[in-house]
Order: sequence, then C-alpha cells, then structure tokens
Amino acid sequence: MSSNAPPLEAASVIAGYPGHRPALIDVSLRLDRGAFTAILGPNGAGKSTLVKVLTGLIRPEKGSVLLFGQDLAATSRREVARRIAVVPQAVHVAFDFRVREVVMMGRAPRQGAMLVASEQDRALVAQVMERTDLVHLAERHVRELSGGEQMRVAIARALAQQPDILVLDESTAHLDLRHTVALHALVRREVRERGLVCVAVLHDLNEAAQNADHVVLLQNGRILSKGDVATVMTYRTLREAFGVELYVGVNELDGTRYFVPMRESANT
Ligand code: ADP
Repeated sequence: MSSNAPPLEAASVIAGYPGHRPALIDVSLRLDRGAFTAILGPNGAGKSTLVKVLTGLIRPEKGSVLLFGQDLAATSRREVARRIAVVPQAVHVAFDFRVREVVMMGRAPRQGAMLVASEQDRALVAQVMERTDLVHLAERHVRELSGGEQMRVAIARALAQQPDILVLDESTAHLDLRHTVALHALVRREVRERGLVCVAVLHDLNEAAQNADHVVLLQNGRILSKGDVATVMTYRTLREAFGVELYVGVNELDGTRYFVPMRESANT
C-alpha cells in the first residue's frame, strides 16, 4: 500500500446484483485525507450499493476500487477492517454489553486471535470515550441508552478501530436535530484534527451543505454531479436529481446554502 496514494478511489466502476441491470454505472470518485464527502441522491440512485462497493462487500464487474493504491479485491477482510470503519443506520446490540465493552470491540481487527485487550487497547478506548463524551456512560448497558447515545457508542467503536476511513451509512436517519448536530460536530473534529477521511450517505440536503467538503450526487446509478457544495448543490441540479421544486437560499453571514422543498401546488 502506498501512503501517497489517495485513501480510497473508485475508477470507472460498474457494479450491481446478479441478474439485474447494473446499479452503478461508470462511477469514479476519490476520497481525500481530511475531507468529508457526502453521497446524495434519491431512493434507488445507488448510494447503498456505492457504500458496499467502497467497503469491499460488492466487487465491481468492471473498473476498480483502490485502498491506498491497492486493489480492494486483493486486500484481506482484516486489512480492510483495520482501514475502514462503517457506522450503520441503527445500532444493533445482540447481547447486554456495557458501553466500554462495545467500544473495546472496535479493537478486534487489531488484536490477535484470542482478542486479548492490551494496556494500550484500554488506554485507547478510554481516550476515544473522552473524545465522544461517553466517560460518564462507560459502565451503562448500551440497550438502556437513548438512540443518540447509542449512535455515539457506535461512532466510538468505529474510532477505536483507528480507521483511516469512516463510513456513515445514513447514521443520522433516526436522530433528532440536537443529536444530528452533535454527531456532525464530533465527526468534523476527527476529520479536521486527525485527517480522518469521512464519507457519509445523507438524506438531508441542509445537513450535507453544512458539513460536507465534497458532494457526490447520484441519479439512476450514475454520478450526476460531484465537487464542492456550491458546484453540486444548485437549484437546477438538485431539481433534476430529486424531481422536486426547491428553494435554494444562501446565508449571507457564512455563505452556507439552505434548501426548502416547495409545495407542488406552488408551481401549478
Ligand atoms: P439507494 O441506496 O440510493 O436507495 P440502492 O443502492 O439501494 O439505492 O439501489 C440501487 C439499485 O439497485 C436499485 O435499482 C435497487 O432496486 C437495486 N438493488 C439494491 N439492492 C439490491 C439487491 N439486493 N438485489 C437486486 N437489486 C438491488
């Protein structure tokens, strides 16, 4: 693996499911160190499939995905798990584990077969719990926590992996506004201070515009537009992608964009 190569790069990917037409067609993108990339698009556009391709769960039929310059298809699952951490939409805890134990599970790809926690593992887990504001919940059972707190535990477990790349797969879908804002503040700090690469599937355009450095907009399995927020998140492009009229405003104080879908009757 080359440390000069981009952390993750997809080149002319065609991918999908056996017996179906490809769900991704000619998708090329690059994830940069210290950048937050949002993946946007309507239902069925290919966002989940793209996440599966970028994390090696689906192999491209054509094209390639390179992890630090090495073909993902030729990289062991264990190596991928060390480099890429995925935070799902909802946290499923099969047994009644405590917060500290769940965060420690993030160390598994870096421990030997016996999964013995070293002094270093314990120190790192303690540090990650500080960063994610979980110290006061360390001995609580995860099942007893609120949805927002459970999501923080999932992020902490992912960060305990010390990944280069963090994938958020609709992780804010079930969170209220306060927890959504808190999650993005936490992730942005990791991106800024530690050079983490973050790629997030988001549904909320405002959330994307406020947090993303780069945006990839998918439609019908193809990239309709990619680039910074101002390039991609325009009235015309979003209307084309989502098939709705929307109002795009610009906050004059900081230049951030905001989006309001228009009622259909307003256009007729
Ligand atoms: P999104 O995440 O943007 O909603 P998906 O990646 O889930 O989109 O889906 C993209 C396309 O792939 C859709 O046409 C969908 O029907 C198809 N698809 C998704 N999962 C499967 C599957 N397991 N088997 C067959 N087709 C699938």
